[in-house]
Amino acid sequence: MRTILVIDTKKIHCASMSWTKDAREALDAAGYRRGGARAAVVDLLSRQNCCLSAQDIHDQLRKARRPVGIASVYRALEALADLRLVKRVDAGDGIARYEPATADGEHHHHLVCRDCGKVEAFSDSRLERAIDRVAGGLGYSVEEHEVVLLGACADCS
Ligand SMILES: [Zn+2]
Ligand SMILES: [Zn+2]
Repeated sequence: MRTILVIDTKKIHCASMSWTKDAREALDAAGYRRGGARAAVVDLLSRQNCCLSAQDIHDQLRKARRPVGIASVYRALEALADLRLVKRVDAGDGIARYEPATADGEHHHHLVCRDCGKVEAFSDSRLERAIDRVAGGLGYSVEEHEVVLLGACADCS
């Protein structure tokens, strides 16, 4: 079977300013102190199109001269996940990655390169319609779905 994917990068936008605002408010409301590791992680995630691992976040913050210990990155992600501000992405390679959980209905899925470990976002309206149709026929009330395509990226194949 040959599958043709249309990757519409226009639909894949950075987590909006409203996510950053929501995240800050939710952390305040949950009694977390402002600033420090959590603020750095929120700022970094707000500029992402897609998901990052704790190690990616640690590395990028160090590069941006805003170093945060890896244990603090994990704790920040845990706090954000508890508040449902980040979504844990399981790309099938055993590495937990996280992306902002936006309330605006932004929806995408993931392509994973098994050779270099790159994870990219894609969205496809026909795929969404097909999933809705399948879900509708199964007698389940399906609340969410995840699609992960594993293979080799253009650079590695
Ligand atoms: Zn993503
Ligand atoms: Zn690759």
